[in-house]
Amino acid sequence: MSKALSNRINSLPISQTLAMAAKARELKAEGKDIISLSLGEPDFNTPDFIKNAAIEAINQDYNSYTPVDGYLELKEAICNKFKRDNNLEYTPKQIVVSTGAKQSIANIAQVLLNPGDEVLLPAPYWVSYSAIATLCEARFVEIPSSIDNDFKITPEQLEAAITPKTKMVFFNSPNNPSGSIYTEEEYRALAKVLEKYPNIFILSDEIYEHINYGVTHFSFAAIENMYDRTITVNGLAKAFAMTGWRIGFIGAPEWIAKACTKMQGQITSGTNCIAQRAAITAVSATPDKVQYMIDEFKSRRDIVLGLLGKIEGIKLNVPEGAFYIFPDISAFFGRTIKGKEIKDANDFSMLLLEEANVASVTGAAFGAPNCIRLSYAASELQLREAVKRIREVLS
Ligand code: GLU
Repeated sequence: MSKALSNRINSLPISQTLAMAAKARELKAEGKDIISLSLGEPDFNTPDFIKNAAIEAINQDYNSYTPVDGYLELKEAICNKFKRDNNLEYTPKQIVVSTGAKQSIANIAQVLLNPGDEVLLPAPYWVSYSAIATLCEARFVEIPSSIDNDFKITPEQLEAAITPKTKMVFFNSPNNPSGSIYTEEEYRALAKVLEKYPNIFILSDEIYEHINYGVTHFSFAAIENMYDRTITVNGLAKAFAMTGWRIGFIGAPEWIAKACTKMQGQITSGTNCIAQRAAITAVSATPDKVQYMIDEFKSRRDIVLGLLGKIEGIKLNVPEGAFYIFPDISAFFGRTIKGKEIKDANDFSMLLLEEANVASVTGAAFGAPNCIRLSYAASELQLREAVKRIREVLS
């Protein structure tokens, strides 16, 4: 019957982050002792002050449909957040609240891309960017980077990738999967190139904004002449440990926000009312309220880097943000380990799953086929055990 499915779904790859997480769950259910470092999901609980806001909302009988673009009070709180943290002036009409940043990104792609348009993706990039572009029948164009330049692209590379068909470029800093952060200076240099191409729109995905170990966060839309064509995406999942609450949002030029609301109004309508009420409390909280999680992530990052660094053949950089390590493991290509031929990152990731019981995600899914992604949003105990097992398999 699969032939009856649309070309659209048949051409869509499965999300590798979600697939690997599902595989790890399946193996665990079979009784295997799997350590899952696949999914980018904080292992903390949502802070009590946010949970209490949700409980209060239930008791206050928040149960009706919400405005498609979100409660006005929430949109106002988001405007304040953008001003407070990002030096960005948005009005509530420029804000759309969605069911996770993933929906925010899908909305933007749906309302801006036509078939045949090109979307530039500095690689490595989050798995769903390419799939979302493909759904819009747009063509995604990877701009490669490597661990040697901290997984960042140069202005020259950006310029070389631009064609008359380029409609959008997706930036993501701090980056999933590499953890790299573009400084203000680096972003301004990229903006200099885009100044020459006024028809290109910029999606700036800042979902990992607060998971930052010391580089000052800079929002692309804060560049004066980029504001009118940049859509800033953010959400609550990562910094507030609220992945399952599904709250994402955008700040955008009003006409784009309006189009996203129209799109969302035909697909999902406004996002969950209780989650939105809790979100008012979360976005209004200053980032220091979640600093304890960031400190813990940083300490885990350092532990994992220290341990992985002792394994010959694993090449590392120091991720400045997010909660992923993205080692280059290409030194193992062409080797046979535990009777398994390692041709690429997919094989390597499968080797770790089958022989070390450690779930990772292949870099191929992120447009970086020499790497794998390991999430360190897991307990220190699990992380130490995971690296120990990896070392045993590789030695
Ligand atoms: N963004 C997270 C990740 O990259 C969650 C899974 C997903 O939606 O892709 O692991």
